[in-house]
Amino acid sequence: MTRKFTEDRILIATHNAGKLEEMAQLFAPRGIAVVGAAEMDLSEPDETETTFVGNARIKAHAAVKATGLPALSDDSGIEVEALDNAPGVYTADWAETPNGRDFLMAMTKTHNLLEAKKAPHPRRARFCATLVLAWPDGHDEVFVGTVNGTLVWPIRGALGHGYDPMFQPDGHEITFAEMDADSKNAISHRADAFAKLMKGCFD
Ligand code: IMP
Repeated sequence: MTRKFTEDRILIATHNAGKLEEMAQLFAPRGIAVVGAAEMDLSEPDETETTFVGNARIKAHAAVKATGLPALSDDSGIEVEALDNAPGVYTADWAETPNGRDFLMAMTKTHNLLEAKKAPHPRRARFCATLVLAWPDGHDEVFVGTVNGTLVWPIRGALGHGYDPMFQPDGHEITFAEMDADSKNAISHRADAFAKLMKGCFD
């Protein structure tokens, strides 16, 4: 049985202002106040696990321990079938440079690895988002969202972020980076995970 959320405050274990705002909008109609990690001066724990759920659990439980509040965390990335699901949890790491994240570099690396392997087309991939909602008594609930698609090269589109210009979701002729935000948000891995979270713990 999935545990229902009955508190009136939730900590969002992210330092990303965009994600926080997105979640605040989601919880406002339910009368739940949203508190951000930066506001509580939380440090970012090391993501030492090798799975999305492992890392999301680390972030959620660390936030609960530090604040005593129930906390929601997320971890996401892209899995490329022909690369044994890499970069997966290391998606952001593949973009890391001394001067910040460079996703053109990460997408080029991905393409080059596929070419080196002579991976057949279509090159299947999926975006994954895992949400973990954790309570002070140690209980947690996990929700996994995905969206399947193919990788394109050259990349197309300038909207969105991360790997969006390389990813064409199934059933569409355009990449995530050619899609307006509302269209992407209707089908994204994060939207899928959120819908499951709402149904499981808030409805
Ligand atoms: P994290 O969940 O904030 O650790 O992010 C993991 C990485 O996955 C991000 O830096 C993005 O590059 C990538 N990623 C996650 N979701 C998306 C998406 O919707 N579009 C493009 N890239 C994404």
